[in-house]
Amino acid sequence: MNLVTHWIGGGPWEGRPERCGEVDDPATGRVTAHVAMADAAVVDGAVRAATEAAAVWGRSSLAARTRILFAFRERVERDKRELADILTSEHGKVASDALGEVNRGLEVVEFACGLAQLLKGEFSENVSSDVDSYAIRQPVGVAAGITPFNFPAMVPMWMFPIAIACGNAFVLKPSEKDPSASLWLARRFADAGLPPGVFNVVQGDKEAVDAILQHPGIHAVSFVGSTPVARHVYETATRAGKRVQALGGAKNHMVVLPDADLDLAADAAVGAAYGSTGQRCMAISVLVTVGDAADRLLPRIRERIRRLKVAPGLERGAEMGPLTTREAHSRVSAYLEQGRAEGATLLEDGRAVRVPGHEEGYFLGPCLFDHVEPSMSVYTDEIFGPVLSVVRVDRYDDALALVNANPYANGVAIFTNDGGAARRFQAEVQVGMVGINVPIPVPMAYYSFGGWKSSLFGDVHVHGREGVLFYTRGKVVTARWPDPKHRGVNLGFPQMR
Ligand code: NAD
Repeated sequence: MNLVTHWIGGGPWEGRPERCGEVDDPATGRVTAHVAMADAAVVDGAVRAATEAAAVWGRSSLAARTRILFAFRERVERDKRELADILTSEHGKVASDALGEVNRGLEVVEFACGLAQLLKGEFSENVSSDVDSYAIRQPVGVAAGITPFNFPAMVPMWMFPIAIACGNAFVLKPSEKDPSASLWLARRFADAGLPPGVFNVVQGDKEAVDAILQHPGIHAVSFVGSTPVARHVYETATRAGKRVQALGGAKNHMVVLPDADLDLAADAAVGAAYGSTGQRCMAISVLVTVGDAADRLLPRIRERIRRLKVAPGLERGAEMGPLTTREAHSRVSAYLEQGRAEGATLLEDGRAVRVPGHEEGYFLGPCLFDHVEPSMSVYTDEIFGPVLSVVRVDRYDDALALVNANPYANGVAIFTNDGGAARRFQAEVQVGMVGINVPIPVPMAYYSFGGWKSSLFGDVHVHGREGVLFYTRGKVVTARWPDPKHRGVNLGFPQMR
């Protein structure tokens, strides 16, 4: 069976792993590969390779780095359907969604191709007599990325293209649940001319992560995953003296005011709640209906749910694939019972969905709860599956208070035709990314992505300008070059006196 291994020093790791994990095809439930699990020695090998490479790469010209990034971008663009198929086979997401993920990752590579512009410094002439001052940004050295299962290509691509463009070497620890995409990307980057050791991949789980967090050769850590692990990563790595950005979990609300275009809102809610089977950090999991909006909106949502095609990701017309793991399937299914026991009304039960020939796959259809109260576990917990909970409130202020009281604060959306209400919401809501009649407000690569409160530990968000700041350190130089005319010997350019 295929062994998914590490990528260290410019090629696949040739050693024999002490420990391996299993990789499943979620549509069939069958094991398709084994993944090597790195221990501290493997992590150390990757960091050594990265340290050696960073010393040269960090001093290479901007022109040389730009050319390699462009070549990488061309290779991923050319073969992106192959990468999308890898995502479907290990994560389960449908083909169109997988390709969308790759395209969003490519946007960050394209942003990083502008590195010469992004790394420009500042200069002030004559801050004092004959004294100039300038600020430059230099690479931090070796950066590491630890990423979740739900975007095995895009989330790593939020990190390593920018870190590498800034002159760092990078060690990526992808999710052990869908590890192959990272190797595919490493190979393409090497083909594009990236020197060995600048980009490394170590496969593994907590053992590899903890080795990264403690390793003195790593200077910056980017993490994306669940809130408890994000907190652990932030606390451990900052204590070890590293800079850290750790993005955590989410519970994203979509507020629908009574004046909204309800067909638009229904399309948006269904797409944002059930796309990628609800396994997006920006998925909408709570629908907050104001006034009488629920009575008019819910029939529209239910009609759309019934038309959704739940099928294996590569099947023609498939809109919703399986959950990624068996464990996720049991955990999400348990919430359906719990929600009912706590008094919510289960309007749509995805357990009824059957996918013929795929009885062992981790399929769960769209689920919809009405009359959810903020004290219920289906509201308080991040379920991370195709479950949408409807909370009914009387007024706009109640909706705002509900959103602002939630400990998560990744994304939020408001649907309304009232520009004034939307503008007020944008100012008052305590959430990092806000959509106005847009259900999944994922910023473009040249803006930065990240939440507030328990959705982010650290000070800066990923990619965009904040990504460049994270992967570089500022240095300010103050320089005095005495005017040669004050000296006895004048080496200045000959001129008329
Ligand atoms: P996870 O926290 O279980 O795992 C994330 C990474 O941490 C993986 O590489 C994993 O191997 C590692 N890890 C897991 N447990 C660990 C531990 N105890 N100690 C050290 N490392 C550990 O997350 P996941 O299940 O892979 O991904 C889903 C979660 O990620 C959801 O909570 C989702 O909201 C979140 N997410 C957030 C964003 C965001 O931008 N805020 C984006 C994508 C996903």
